[in-house]
Amino acid sequence: MDTEKIVVAGQIASEVKSWIRPQIKKGVSLLEIAEAIENKICELGGNPAFPVNLSINEYAAHYTPSQDDETLAHGLLKVDFGVEIEGWIADNSFSVDLENSRTNKDLIKASQDALSEAEKILSAETAFGELGKVIEYTIKRHGFNPVANLSGHSMEQYDLHAGITVPNVDNKSENVFYEGLYAIEPFATDGTGIVHDGKKGNIFVLKKEKNTRLQLGREILEFIKDNYGFMPFASRWIVKEFGSRAILALNQLENEGILHHYAVLTEEKGKLVSQAENTFLVTREEVINTTK
Ligand code: MN
Ligand code: MN
Repeated sequence: MDTEKIVVAGQIASEVKSWIRPQIKKGVSLLEIAEAIENKICELGGNPAFPVNLSINEYAAHYTPSQDDETLAHGLLKVDFGVEIEGWIADNSFSVDLENSRTNKDLIKASQDALSEAEKILSAETAFGELGKVIEYTIKRHGFNPVANLSGHSMEQYDLHAGITVPNVDNKSENVFYEGLYAIEPFATDGTGIVHDGKKGNIFVLKKEKNTRLQLGREILEFIKDNYGFMPFASRWIVKEFGSRAILALNQLENEGILHHYAVLTEEKGKLVSQAENTFLVTREEVINTTK
């Protein structure tokens, strides 16, 4: 692992976070917020590790604006973005209440507290079940439920979800963290604590390389391989390069099994969801919260 790049990616994420926070107000367009964050990441020397996720209310994750999105910021907004430097990733998120709502504020506090309580016990010897238990209990103490089927994850170079899950509930796992790079991301809800696949969003990822018949599809596929590899990307990034005809080609590539099209993860009863996330570099000697 390249500690230096991991730390710098985290510093960029922190800086972007403090810079964007005061600009997020009710009525600002989501497209404007997403592009501001993505441009700022590049300006500071990083790349977006995935499209900025701006998920409102019952949308827990995986909503990014389309190229002509007119959605305005409102409700309980989750801002989730990643910074990548030569494949080394910082993944982080925060939630904002844009309604002056007591429930929104309490939900935000619950996921934030769960994240800080988890950080307190995190070391190379911590068991995943123990960490999940702390998250679950903290959120329940606030009177809410953790989202059980969303979890944190290990990360490797150019690999956002590298195989190990960090539970948000006590799953009794006695496996320990050892050394590695992890995102911890508690979600709190006033619903049942289950999300399912909602409507298709605007995020894709290369799933399987194979031949495609259409010329435009081939050009887009080359562009995706060169620029994103197996990291997620937004349809609006492709439209920016190839124009709006790219949308049909993306759907074609999805139908051919070449691209995976992410659905918007949605709370099953339509209830509110908050999220807090930081990236942690865990070593034998110490734990660094890279995106603090
Ligand atoms: Mn994230
Ligand atoms: Mn994550």
